[in-house]
Amino acid sequence: MQLLEQRIQKNGKVIGEDVLKVDTFLNHQVDPQLMQAIGQEFAHRFADEKVDRVLTVESSGIAPAVFTALALNVPLVFARKKKSLTLTDDNYQADVYSFTKQETNHIIVDKRFIQPGERILLIDDFLANGQAVQGMLDIAKAAGTTVVGAGIVIEKTFQRGRTLLDDQQVRIEALARIKAFENGHVVFEPEA
Ligand code: 5GP
Repeated sequence: MQLLEQRIQKNGKVIGEDVLKVDTFLNHQVDPQLMQAIGQEFAHRFADEKVDRVLTVESSGIAPAVFTALALNVPLVFARKKKSLTLTDDNYQADVYSFTKQETNHIIVDKRFIQPGERILLIDDFLANGQAVQGMLDIAKAAGTTVVGAGIVIEKTFQRGRTLLDDQQVRIEALARIKAFENGHVVFEPEA
């Protein structure tokens, strides 16, 4: 997606060897116009999949996921990372190791918000080693749903997320695919 690649080139900041900071438009400050275009693109790519629900993880997945759900006219549920007093015990849980934060989060979805038999589209901001998507897959599977695929805003193809998901035959649609960081610059995979 050209618009997104241009924005990454303009505003993305490479941190160390393998992290891209996108806090001016995605992870902290959010550009609603760009998120809307992203949501419409995911909705277009998964248009034939009869999606019943979008699932993401708080917090950075929510902005692109809400616009995807809006474009598909389906509900969105986001997995929560911390158990709150308002969350019931009737829930699905998975462990997700975050390599950017170097900690394991418990992600939790209330059983009321994901129903057996539903067709689920997973959305996340980044695909790195695939742990966040794997956690959502585990929850979707435990809930007896079908995952139609994963919509990823930014994939780093030099990390092993895609291999992990390919092994489980999960369809991935990534809108920007980063091949490498070279001297602080982003190098994209050619668009298909
Ligand atoms: P994975 O679970 O695939 O290893 O990593 C994906 C999760 O880690 C995403 O939900 C995202 O929040 C975070 N993440 C991974 N790589 C990056 C990155 O380069 N930049 C930012 N800002 N977050 C990342």
